[in-house]
Amino acid sequence: MRWFFPTKLDPSKWQDFYQTKYQYHAKAFRWIVILMCLAEVSYFVSDCQTFGYINWKMLLPRTAILVPLILFLFFNKYHKGYIANIFFGYFLMHACMWCTIWAIYYLENRDYAREGFIVMHFGFLALGLAAPYYLSSILHAFIFLNIIVSNQFIHYEQYEMMLSLAVPLYLGIILFQKILENNYVDHYIDHKKLEALSTHDQLTQAYNRNILADLLIPGTTQLRKEFSQDTWFLLLDVDFFKKVNDTYGHEAGDVILTTIADCIHASIRKNDFCLRWGGEEFVIILQDITRMEAITIAERIRASIEQSDTTPAVTISVGVSQYKGADYHQAINDADAAMYTAKHSGRNRVVCYND
Ligand code: GH3
Ligand code: MG
Ligand code: MG
Repeated sequence: MRWFFPTKLDPSKWQDFYQTKYQYHAKAFRWIVILMCLAEVSYFVSDCQTFGYINWKMLLPRTAILVPLILFLFFNKYHKGYIANIFFGYFLMHACMWCTIWAIYYLENRDYAREGFIVMHFGFLALGLAAPYYLSSILHAFIFLNIIVSNQFIHYEQYEMMLSLAVPLYLGIILFQKILENNYVDHYIDHKKLEALSTHDQLTQAYNRNILADLLIPGTTQLRKEFSQDTWFLLLDVDFFKKVNDTYGHEAGDVILTTIADCIHASIRKNDFCLRWGGEEFVIILQDITRMEAITIAERIRASIEQSDTTPAVTISVGVSQYKGADYHQAINDADAAMYTAKHSGRNRVVCYND
C-alpha cells in the first residue's frame, strides 16, 4: 500500500510536480484533444454507412465539436497552468461524447454506440498522461454518468453490457495511470536533485553561474522580461581573504564563505538571487527595488557579516549597480568598478556606481 501512495514527495511539492507533469506532456495533451475531436468529425462517414446514403443531417452533431476545439486551442496557447487546461481538455472529451450521443439520437441502428464509447476510454487514457491522477480518475468516471443520463432518452439496447464492459476497462486504466504517476514521481525527484546539483555551489549552497541559463532570454545576455529596470546588482568581495587562508588555513576560509552565504540568504527575499560568482565573490540580483533599498540591503549584509562570529572576523566590500535593461554584463562591470572604489577607499563599505 505504501507503494500505491508514495510519501517520497514533500506535500508542498505536489503543485509543482503536477505542473511539471503537465508541461512535460503538454504537446501530447494538445494533440490528443485535437485528434479525438477530428475522430469525432470523421464519424460522419460511419454515420452515412449506417444510413446507406450521405445524410447531411449528421454533419451538425459531428462537426459542432470544432467550436469548443478552437476555443481550447486559443486558451491552451496562452494559458500554461495545468488545472484549467486539464479541465478544458477533459471537457472537450466529454463534449465529443455528447456530440456522439446527439448523433446516435438520429441513428436507426444504434448497435455501434457501445464500440464508440469504448473508444472514448482510450482518449481518457491518453489525456491522463498529463493530468494529476486524482483528477483523471474523477473526470474520466463522468463517462458513466453520460451513459446513464443519455440512456434516459436513447434507451440503448445493450445498456447493461455497455456498463459491464466499461467498468473493468475504466478500473484498468486508472490503475495503469497510477503506476505511471508513481514512476513519474521517481523521475521528478531525480530530476530535481540533478537540477539542484547543477545550479548550486556545493560549498555555500548559493547558485552558481549555471542559473543564468534560467535568468536570461535564451541566446542573449539580457535578463528575462520580469527583471525590470528596478533590478539591482550587488558584487561582494571578502576583504584580505588571502591572508585568512594563509593564516588560518583553507578549511577555515571555507567555513567563512558558508557563513557569508548564510548572512546573504538571511537578508534577501525569495525572488532575489545570490550567486557565488568566483572564489570569494558573490553576485546578488535584487528585483523590484529602488536605489535606496538596494543600498540598504547591501549595508545590512555588510553589517551582518562584520558582526558574525567567524574565526577570524572578516569584512566585505560591496559594489552596487542598476541593471539598465540590456546586457547584464554591464551591471556586473559597473558593480565591479564600484566594488574596487570601495576597496581603494578603505574596504568594509558599500559603494554605489556613479555615487
Ligand atoms: P582584497 O581585499 O583586495 O579582495 O584581498 P584578497 O586577499 O581577498 O584578494 P582576492 O579577492 O584576490 O583574494 C581571493 C582569494 O580567495 C584567493 C583564494 O585564496 C581565496 N579563495 C578563493 N576561492 C576559495 C575557496 O573556495 N575557499 C577558500 N578557503 N578560499 C578561496
Ligand atoms: Mg576576489
Ligand atoms: Mg577579496
